[in-house]
Amino acid sequence: MTAQTSVGFIGLGAMGAPMATNLVRAGFDVTVHNRTAAKARPLADAGAAVADTPAGVAAGGVVITMLADDAAVRAVTLGEDGIVGRLGEGGLHVMMSTVAAETSHELARRHAEHGEQVLVAPVFGRPDMAEAAKLNICVSGDDDAKARARPFLDAMGVGVWDFGEEFGAANIVKLAGNFMIAAASEAMGEAYTLCEGHGIDRNSVHELLSSTLFASPVHQGYGARIAARTYQPAGFPMPLGLKDLTLAGEAAAQARVPMPLADLCRQRLIAGIAHGREDWDWAGLAQGVSDDAGRG
Ligand code: NAP
Repeated sequence: MTAQTSVGFIGLGAMGAPMATNLVRAGFDVTVHNRTAAKARPLADAGAAVADTPAGVAAGGVVITMLADDAAVRAVTLGEDGIVGRLGEGGLHVMMSTVAAETSHELARRHAEHGEQVLVAPVFGRPDMAEAAKLNICVSGDDDAKARARPFLDAMGVGVWDFGEEFGAANIVKLAGNFMIAAASEAMGEAYTLCEGHGIDRNSVHELLSSTLFASPVHQGYGARIAARTYQPAGFPMPLGLKDLTLAGEAAAQARVPMPLADLCRQRLIAGIAHGREDWDWAGLAQGVSDDAGRG
């Protein structure tokens, strides 16, 4: 079988733009589309072809989408000028957004009606990791779809983690991981503010803990923001974080798994947005701790 060299890419936001750029750099023949057309210009400069509609990128048979949320994925896939039914028999949709498992099931069903496949492939890593092609990608779906997508995934990430053939599994793993980031942010906010309340420098505490007991990328990266209370510019803004914790809460209810900590973090994000912090990074949920302690 000849390796697929052409690929469509839809969704050139904070994550999608660097991911598509890496596909171009890796030598693939990339056609891109973005709802706001101006965002496609840098990709065109880098060597990608540009299509006016989602359907316009489908002709090559393999399309990657990196869109904001469930509604965006549905619109681009199932809406007018959507890609479903336009990839052709044996076509493949690699869906990389953080969305509900139900959305993945629906996409799989609708694409299958046309002899097309879906690979669910959400990612861990922020825009700087996307830029460096260091994403960790969780996949679920058919094994042959995983094999076909692999060259593209390898051009965008450092790790591909297989969660089986059940389409929604990778979505659940991604939501679980993001819940852990939010919970760690809340914990760091409380711990650093506790120390601050006793006259101890937040940054010194962060330095100790993030280089010893908690030497993880999450504690180091998010923790630095929380210690310094620097939440702008956002890598991942509060409204997207709220979307993920809402999805995690819904998934938890379906499985009858209580997640009280997820509820708390979700309320922090709602409060942050109510305070006008939409364009803050979601680590800013920890600012709620400072607010409550009268140390805003
Ligand atoms: P973003 O910067 O907000 O980009 C969102 C993209 O979706 C844009 O291309 C936007 O088009 C498009 N879009 C939104 N609604 C649409 C609609 N109704 N129809 C067509 N296109 C629509 O988001 P991002 O940070 O790249 O995140 C993309 C996905 O990756 C999300 O599911 C997010 O949860 C996930 N993720 C993000 C990060 C991160 O750190 N940022 C990390 C891991 C995973 P316009 O340009 O026209 O608005």
